[in-house]
Formats: sequence, C-alpha cells, structure tokens
Amino acid sequence: MNSQAPVESALPPGSARPAAVVLRSATATWYQDGPEEPLIRLPHTGSPPCAAVPACGRPRAVFFDRDGTLIEDVPHNTDPGRVRPLPSAREALAALRAAGVPAGVVSNQPGIGRGALRLEQLDALHARMEALVGPLAVTAVCPHRPEEGCGCRKPEPGLVFAACRVLGVRPPETAVVGDIAADLGAAHRAGATGVLVPNTATRAAETRAAPRTASHLAAAVRALVGAPAHLGGPA
Ligand SMILES: [Zn+2]
Repeated sequence: MNSQAPVESALPPGSARPAAVVLRSATATWYQDGPEEPLIRLPHTGSPPCAAVPACGRPRAVFFDRDGTLIEDVPHNTDPGRVRPLPSAREALAALRAAGVPAGVVSNQPGIGRGALRLEQLDALHARMEALVGPLAVTAVCPHRPEEGCGCRKPEPGLVFAACRVLGVRPPETAVVGDIAADLGAAHRAGATGVLVPNTATRAAETRAAPRTASHLAAAVRALVGAPAHLGGPA
C-alpha cells in the first residue's frame, strides 16, 4: 500500500495502518493517525487556530456536535444540497470569531465505517456546511461503527482530545455544545464544559440531566464567551 492508495482501501476496519493524510480535496485535508483514531479535517482556508490570549474564564475553544446542533439532522445524508443550518448557527460562530475563540466540530459518522459514506462525500458535506455557517478551525470525526468500541465515538472523549491536540489547548479549557446526552458525556469525560441545546429529538430526561442548557446556539455561545458589544442585536 502506498500513500496514494484510494481512500476506500485505506479506511476499512482491520486494514493496515493507513497513511496519515487520507484525503486532500479542493477545500481541506483529512488525516487519520491510525485505524482506531478519529478523522481530522483541516481547512485549506478559513480561520487558523487562534493565537490570542483568551479573556479570563472564557473557553479557549468551543466544539459543536454537527447533526441536530449546527445543521439539521438528516439521517444517512450524502447530499450537500440537503445541508441546512439550524437557527443561529451562523450567528453563534460569528460571535466566537469576534471573541477570538476558535470553533470546531466533533461528530460521530459511523456511515464511514459501514461503507455507506465515502470520505469524499463527507468532505463535500463539511465544505457545504462551512460555506453556510462559517469556517471552523478543526473538525474531528469518529468514523467507527458503534460495535468497534473505539475511544472516539461520543460519549467517549477521543474526539475532544483530538481536536484539542490540533488547537494546542487543554480539554478542561474548552466547551462542547450538543443536542443529546452523548455530546455532554464526551464533554464530561474529557473534563470540558458541556452545554445542551435541546431540539425536538432531545429526550426530556437528557434535558433534565444536563448541567447547562441553552435555548439556541447563539445563547449557548453568549453564556460561554459573553456578548461582544459590536455584534449588536439578533441577526
Ligand atoms: Zn471512533
């Protein structure tokens, strides 16, 4: 196997250790350090990791779940045309940019491990999402099937750890925003601050058990980093 091997032959579970870089597209590079590690997407353009010293008490990075949090949850979607941002996603990411806090995504995508979603399709979905909501500093994706028992499928903390390594921040200095208990579980196990933004699919018990909730994404970000005066009112 050489480093130019097709992605399809680099990713199946149990295959030989793939090259670190598994896909270069027009918009991003994806890498994976080994079959049991998460997929990491680094954009070719967009916001670089933030070098600014954060204000006291602010998280040094905020990681969002993808489906049901930043964009509508469309099960098994492979079509970038069906990517739709959820209310205030764009506003929330703009507020983080204004505050100098890098934003990322941590997402379980078992369709990769099942062979139902190719990495090129995943890349196209993420490129479309970032075109709609704004650039993200890092994306960490668990490509494994649940039965593989990996350390990165939420509620395991591996995606948070991986995204933190990319940005050079410590997990307890970060926050994770999601719509289900698995997102808050990953935050808790990583030592990060978890914020639940419930949607119609969120179970009442999950909302009751959440240490922090917000009614929408912009409210979650305001609670984490404050509201910069120059952002003005709702967009
Ligand atoms: Zn995983």
